[in-house]
Amino acid sequence: MPDFFDTHCHLDASEFDADRDTVHARARAAGVAVQVVPAVTRDNFAAVAATCARYPGCLPAWGLHPMRIAVHRPEHLADLRAQIETRRPVAVGEIGLDLFVRELDYATQEYFYVEQLKIARDHDLPVLLHGRRAHDLLLKQLRRIRVRGGIAHAFNGSRQQADEFIKLGFRLGFGGAFTWPRANQLRRLAVELPLEAIVLETDSPDIPPVWLGRDRNSPAELPRIARTLAELRDTDTETVARVTTQNAREVLALSAAEMT
Ligand code: ZN
Repeated sequence: MPDFFDTHCHLDASEFDADRDTVHARARAAGVAVQVVPAVTRDNFAAVAATCARYPGCLPAWGLHPMRIAVHRPEHLADLRAQIETRRPVAVGEIGLDLFVRELDYATQEYFYVEQLKIARDHDLPVLLHGRRAHDLLLKQLRRIRVRGGIAHAFNGSRQQADEFIKLGFRLGFGGAFTWPRANQLRRLAVELPLEAIVLETDSPDIPPVWLGRDRNSPAELPRIARTLAELRDTDTETVARVTTQNAREVLALSAAEMT
């Protein structure tokens, strides 16, 4: 079986403080060779860096998350540039726009999103996008500020929006959400999109797949998520693993050496 690649995993999150070594070991044993660990705030860079230093196969992304605008300050953008120069990440992320949570001021979100797109463009890095009810607004800025593609993480938009992201060099991140039988639109997309457009993710500790109920998600679930996608698409898990891992490597511009 080819290696699995978890393109979005908050292994540094406090939910894993009690058993992070075990969580990582279980993922490795399950064949999850690589996990991208995205930062969410400036003060979170250190925890992500420590996690990636400790665990083989964990690769950092640096970014300021749209749901955390209450703690971001304009000067954190300079800190983000400095962090990128200290340790080149696989992407700028997690960045984006969230219109689902009404308390998040839109202008502030857009400011940090746009400024971080410019940082990604200046460093020739892909981006990891968080988007809820905001895909068209995300796309509008991507057409203006041309980054070298990226991943629309936990994608939940329409087929038309998916196609627009693909045109701009993006892959769509699929994880626990499509495993729920009632997620009809998402399941249809997971079947209809070309496999070359899809990367897998867990978003651990969030977005548990259906077999976990409301429990904490972990990166060791990725092979079963891949199997669920294979069943929906009427193909085999090996094909899903091989193609989605290759997609992730391409979009994040990783060499084989960087993945061990
Ligand atoms: Zn995330």
